[in-house]
Amino acid sequence: MTTEQATAAINPWHVAQRQFDLAAEKLNLDPGLRQVLREPRRELTVHFPVKLDDGTVKVFTGYRVQHNLGRGPAKGGIRYHQDVSLDEVKALSMWMTWKCAVVGIPYGGGKGGVIVDPKKLSQRELEGLTRRYATEISVLIGPEKDIPAPDVNTNSQTMAWIMDTYSMHVGYTVPGVVTGKPISLGGSEGRNEATARGAVFCIVEAAQHLGMDLKSARVAVQGFGNAGSIAATLIAEQGATVVAVSDSSGGIHNAKGLDVARVIAWKAEHGTVVGFPGAQSISNPALLEVDCDILIPAALENQISARNAANIKAKIVAEAANGPTTPEADDILFERGVFLIPDILCNAGGVTVSYFEWVQDLNRDQWSEGYVNSKLKEIMVRSFKEVLTMSLRESVNMRMAAYLLAVDRVASATALRGLYP
Ligand code: NAD
Repeated sequence: MTTEQATAAINPWHVAQRQFDLAAEKLNLDPGLRQVLREPRRELTVHFPVKLDDGTVKVFTGYRVQHNLGRGPAKGGIRYHQDVSLDEVKALSMWMTWKCAVVGIPYGGGKGGVIVDPKKLSQRELEGLTRRYATEISVLIGPEKDIPAPDVNTNSQTMAWIMDTYSMHVGYTVPGVVTGKPISLGGSEGRNEATARGAVFCIVEAAQHLGMDLKSARVAVQGFGNAGSIAATLIAEQGATVVAVSDSSGGIHNAKGLDVARVIAWKAEHGTVVGFPGAQSISNPALLEVDCDILIPAALENQISARNAANIKAKIVAEAANGPTTPEADDILFERGVFLIPDILCNAGGVTVSYFEWVQDLNRDQWSEGYVNSKLKEIMVRSFKEVLTMSLRESVNMRMAAYLLAVDRVASATALRGLYP
């Protein structure tokens, strides 16, 4: 079995439920609440036709899942990827519930996805797919109900199309139906960078806690899209040296350091980081095990598993991606003293600034980038400290600490609301 096949064989929904079970057990959660929180509230599967440029029609499959609505409307991104599955979307929606609770923003968890390789579609076909998918899931989404955002292979243009489609249906402009929009359509300053910025705030705190000097730290980043490329830029601004980066085509490595801005320009021109001059090529599995101090997984799920956790050299693993580490790998890393900043904390900057965007939209307001970033920093640093305190108090790893806080908050809200009818 290849590494890719072994990774694909791990079901993210089983991982998400296992993580929840571990926390529920430790919290001694009421059995009824445990049953409720262990499953998504709603799962919608849609099959919809799109007219392709050659005149033929192709039917695509998509999903929108709302895991929990106890603390507010559902919130979570939309992913376009050939490997999207209902179980993956369910896992991502559950992680969103815990993420919003960890950082204390008033949302439940949701997620969406379409099974498609968007690189194979023209811009017009992508627009058609997006508008029809938005129409199919419009029974669930809305500014008071469920607010999508970008995820893998979707961006501010995708959000603009969804906002327009929804607005056309209701007959007036509804900026608050999605976040991650272009600034000119009610997007927020700082949203594009927010996931990476939040992750770097966490890394700065972790380094301080561990007594690591970021100026001499070497960093490897897997995935070079929104989260990964901006995290690489921001960590380099902190004085760290980025020694390896990768995307779906492969990776590049230079022990002396990569010029991140030049790698971004190379990727913009060639569509991949591969081939960047002055660097050796490195595979994605090898990148995870490269000699470095900080590893930032910023691609897909299940990258760090029992197969490779013992070989990770980094002292800090900062999960910009959702679900990059399996529960077995968590144990191995913890035993080895690797400090892991879990996804539901580490990448929560994205949903936090999405929340700011939504608040601005509902109030027809526009905040400055400085204000957004300072409010983001306040929430990320406070949340990091709360999770760290829990981790030290309970002698558990950072993921378990974040889950203890999050599951308890969601369970309390659910219990207070009571059982309807
Ligand atoms: P993106 O589409 O902008 O970038 C994804 C990157 O990962 C691309 O460079 C792609 O080539 C690379 N990639 C894909 N498959 C890969 C593989 N098998 N090996 C190595 N690299 C691979 O997506 P993004 O928005 O940056 O999302 C990346 C991760 O961050 C996802 O797990 C996502 O859920 C998470 N995340 C994103 C946000 C956000 O605001 N965009 C917020 C929270 C979490």
